[in-house]
Amino acid sequence: MTDTLPNPTVTDESPSASTASAATASASTPSASTSSAESIGPERRIVTAVPGPKSLAIHERRLAAVPVGVSSMLPVYIARAHGAVVEDVDGNRFLDLGAGIGVTTIGHTNDAVVDAARAQLGDFLHTLFTITPYESYVRVAELVAERTPGDFPKKTVLVNSGAEAVENGVKIARRFTRRRAVAVLEHGYHGRTNLTMAMNFKAMPYATGFGPFAGDVYHAPSSYPFRDGLSGEDAAARTIAYLEKHVGAEDLAILVVEPIQGEGGFQVPAPGYLPALQRWANANGVVIAADEIQSGMARTGAWFASSHFGFEPDLVFFAKGIAGGLPLAGVTGRAPIMDAAQPGGLGGTFGGNPVAAAAAVAVIEQIEQQGLLARGTQIGELLRDGLLALQRDFDVIGEVRGIGAMIAIELVRSGTAGTVKTPDPSAVTAISAFAAQHGVLILTAGTYGNVLRFLPSLAITDEQVHDALGVLREALQSLA
Ligand code: PMP
Repeated sequence: MTDTLPNPTVTDESPSASTASAATASASTPSASTSSAESIGPERRIVTAVPGPKSLAIHERRLAAVPVGVSSMLPVYIARAHGAVVEDVDGNRFLDLGAGIGVTTIGHTNDAVVDAARAQLGDFLHTLFTITPYESYVRVAELVAERTPGDFPKKTVLVNSGAEAVENGVKIARRFTRRRAVAVLEHGYHGRTNLTMAMNFKAMPYATGFGPFAGDVYHAPSSYPFRDGLSGEDAAARTIAYLEKHVGAEDLAILVVEPIQGEGGFQVPAPGYLPALQRWANANGVVIAADEIQSGMARTGAWFASSHFGFEPDLVFFAKGIAGGLPLAGVTGRAPIMDAAQPGGLGGTFGGNPVAAAAAVAVIEQIEQQGLLARGTQIGELLRDGLLALQRDFDVIGEVRGIGAMIAIELVRSGTAGTVKTPDPSAVTAISAFAAQHGVLILTAGTYGNVLRFLPSLAITDEQVHDALGVLREALQSLA
């Protein structure tokens, strides 16, 4: 029956799987959190083909109603979710190792977040902060400013999406510096608006056919230790040489870097790379911004991944995990830079929506009350140990990398690890499909499409991590 499904375009932003087989999963201890959705058990459970008949019926309607440009990697339609588990309309339950690409960082339908949003729904849904403001917007600004790296006065603007945060950061930096050029790093990803399409490294599928694009955007070489073998110092020298030669510091308004590259494949820069870029930017009047849209909000065991590297950006872009699943994003940065934009120059109808802002305050409180920064580190250790054990047994795993609950494996053709390192995207597709059929959602990534990334919610239990790693082992075995 799944033969009737289209073969969805695999983009870096989705898990991939298509066909079905039934598998039943092991039981596990209950998740720590409880809620109205607690009837969803903590274990994976596959009771129909994947996708099941109800998903297929919705999918047929979707094909007529939703354009193909909005692709879904796994056409199972979700009915409800809790903690680290999502349940589809056919009753199949999946361990969610992607958390909606790092959004439900503290778990699906966290009680406190749902309660905060529900309470706000009863008070007011919208006024528009730029017309008649409300306290929760200010509270989010204060809370984020206290948690971003750097002990200096900061201000925050709230918007709706990651791409919009990036757009605003660039606007603000241009206004502040009175310079025009924007620099990003190779393998980066920043969104799907016109400016951010120009900032992405990968053309297909994000930009191909959608031009003309915003000008004055420059892609500098990055630090990708697995492939370039450079020290942080040498990689930074290469980046800086590119910027000085191709752009010129005097024309460069902003350098935007992901401290750990998300869609690009969880590249962790070599030690010293980011501080060296910061020193150069600071010395040359260039605003340096961390796009922490994927790496931020406790995912790596720190509020923001920049902290792991001793990196203090002027601006931080955040989104995804900030509001537990509700749309909220923003830019936090040095007060004088943020204040460069004239009154009325920043904003938008829905930016900092009161329900999303109330949820964000609850998310931040939950991270603190539940000790989720430490939990992110623990999950990272569990995952890393498990993945390193798999690497010892399967030479298709070229590298295990990442920090906290942001870990990836880069797959290479057998025998090429350490030398040529030929990317193996077909292994990635096969593994993520196998895992989905067995009740585990694993996202793909990477410029070469050869990375499996793990960014589970911090509500995932040790048992769930071990169970998912067991499925991954079976998937790797199935490659042979
Ligand atoms: N920057 C990074 C690092 C991202 O990971 C993403 C989303 N994957 C974006 C920007 C764009 O965010 P949004 O999809 O909310 O526009």
